Amino acid sequence: MGVTVLRNASVLDPKAGELAEGQSVVVDGGQIADVGPGLSVPDDAVTLDVGGRTVMPGLIDAHTHPAIVDADIFAMAEWSPTYVAARAGRALEGMLSRGFTTIRDVGAGEHGLARAVEEGYFTGPRIRYGGKQLSQTGGAGDWRAPSRQVYDDNYYSPAIGVICDGVPEVRRAVREEVRRGAHHIKVYLSGAVDSPSDRVDSTQFSIEELNAIVEEATAANIYVTGHAYTSRAINRGLECGVRCIEHGNLMDASSIPLFKQYGAFYVPTIVTYQTLARKSAAGELPADIAGKLEDVIHGAIRALELAHEAGIPIVYGTDLFADMHDQQLQEFVIRAEVQPPADLIRSATSTAAELLRMVGQVGVVAPGAFADLLVVDGNPLQDIRVLTTPERTLKLIMKSGEIYKNEL
Ligand SMILES: [Zn+2]
Repeated sequence: MGVTVLRNASVLDPKAGELAEGQSVVVDGGQIADVGPGLSVPDDAVTLDVGGRTVMPGLIDAHTHPAIVDADIFAMAEWSPTYVAARAGRALEGMLSRGFTTIRDVGAGEHGLARAVEEGYFTGPRIRYGGKQLSQTGGAGDWRAPSRQVYDDNYYSPAIGVICDGVPEVRRAVREEVRRGAHHIKVYLSGAVDSPSDRVDSTQFSIEELNAIVEEATAANIYVTGHAYTSRAINRGLECGVRCIEHGNLMDASSIPLFKQYGAFYVPTIVTYQTLARKSAAGELPADIAGKLEDVIHGAIRALELAHEAGIPIVYGTDLFADMHDQQLQEFVIRAEVQPPADLIRSATSTAAELLRMVGQVGVVAPGAFADLLVVDGNPLQDIRVLTTPERTLKLIMKSGEIYKNEL
């Protein structure tokens, strides 16, 4: 891979929330080598004139499940993992085509999928993965029907969770994920919408178990992120050292001081609830799941307002699965009710990079970063919607210096 230079670029700096016009971006191999006006490059460099368009870092979706490939998730859990991986590959390619060059997988995706992308067997975003979500018996990752006794603990069956109870078992579960190269550990702090036998207002795992999970993750220099809806579940997670909260739809003001005290991140995933609600209205959801959806959907915007007004670091996440991935950019539109465009862009670039512990590598157009670049027709700092029509407004997608799409 030689040198490529993007000329005549308006480079978007997410942190500053500004565009710098008349810039060149020099890409050498998989990384950005230089950014500035009038840079010189070798004679054999490939030159792309972007015509004054916006050049911004590739987007980051911090809550994805590319390996949840079917709406019938309980049936899918008994499918062949190779078949599921093949379908996950299709989902990953869709994400890259929307401008997502890095994703965080928070359940079901694992090291094999990340490696397949890394080595070019699948086309898709770079994957930061946590493996399976840790769940207590009867918790949100326990997908057995209530009448089923036997649990298939084959790690490579395509279920979302691994069941562990008690301090020794949760320690082993974390150590197993660390052994497989996990970048983080995901834990169910409360019930979920899509699980067969728990309640969204429950708390899950004991304090002793949560402390052990965080201790093991910290020993491996990775962090724990927690699925939770209510402040009751959020607060006990944060107090045990969980560094990020997913969903948080029913959060109240009592969680805000804890987010601040622990420097924790918040990843709302509103688009998945709105998409599921449309399916529910069309009669496409089982009644028990539709009922749980009703419990959580109304608080989502209020929770986002609370976090935004308090200045909590908010990260872009979508939580879409199966055939819903085409809604991945709509989270921008939904959150635009609350957050200005510069904040939305930060949530999917620089703030996401902080959560992923990849500052300087992703979410920024600067020397030393991965050459993950988008060329956008329009200024997303003025109108976030220019990011939501990639087929028209996304003119170039580059990941690690490789061009995936070029319509310049
Ligand atoms: Zn999720």
